[in-house]
Amino acid sequence: MKKLTDFNLTDALRSEIESAVKNRRIPHAIIILAGDFQSRIDLATYLSAASLCIDEHSFPCGECRVCKKIFSGIHPDVQYYEREKDKKEFSVKIVRESIKPDAFVKPNEADGRVFIIKDAETMNPSAQNAFLKILEEPPKGVRFILCCDNSASMLETIRSRATVYSLLKDNESDEDDEKSLKLAVELANALTSTNEYEFMSKTGVFEKDKELLKKVISKMQVLCRDALAVKNSSIILSGEKDCAYKLASSLSVKNLINLIGKLNELSDSINKNANLNLLITRFSSVLRQATRG
Ligand SMILES: [Zn+2]
Repeated sequence: MKKLTDFNLTDALRSEIESAVKNRRIPHAIIILAGDFQSRIDLATYLSAASLCIDEHSFPCGECRVCKKIFSGIHPDVQYYEREKDKKEFSVKIVRESIKPDAFVKPNEADGRVFIIKDAETMNPSAQNAFLKILEEPPKGVRFILCCDNSASMLETIRSRATVYSLLKDNESDEDDEKSLKLAVELANALTSTNEYEFMSKTGVFEKDKELLKKVISKMQVLCRDALAVKNSSIILSGEKDCAYKLASSLSVKNLINLIGKLNELSDSINKNANLNLLITRFSSVLRQATRG
């Protein structure tokens, strides 16, 4: 059985999860983000055991009949869903014909049930909307855990109803995470500055570090989404309140949506191995443009 310390999490998030588990207050809707495919599912399984374990002192104990079944993948009250084998997308059919009817069935053995979606990033908008309806009036005692490789693919309406647990990549440390977040905040602030060279002057660090650029882009997306959340008065996820408020006050909803789109395109180009120097130039020009008009 994996322990919480086996997962690559920031210290802050690890203690948040620890306390949720200890107080038996694991959220009813969770999005497990980033990291790799298997770690996301392992963490979802861990959280299922943590919520259904029948030991009195420590959970998940790994020893009780509930834990044993969950960690062997055979507990009838912990269900996994994924897109059909020959399909690219997770279809609305699975939500309507499997998840929804299953969710209203009473638990077989445990005190509650956990539904895990292994590849939520492949849910198309109609699948997400159908799922949202279940989340809006969740059946009692059911937890939903969505494993997802990036938050950009989830609808804002789902994100705002779920607690996000974000894993780090294997080779990423807490320190790397802080460094990229700090830089993303500086760049986001520079985007709203009237001095157009301020942004460009901060991009030099990427010349030898493509991985850093990648991380900063994904952190900037979170900041922009947080700024949108401020405008919709929903929840901020990054913990960078000042930056989110600043972006929200200086950019329009249209600007922010534009920015998120451009950041997506840039991240696609990095994954397709585009020339790094050109990318850095585009990073500056395209993003500043997106904040205009
Ligand atoms: Zn147990």
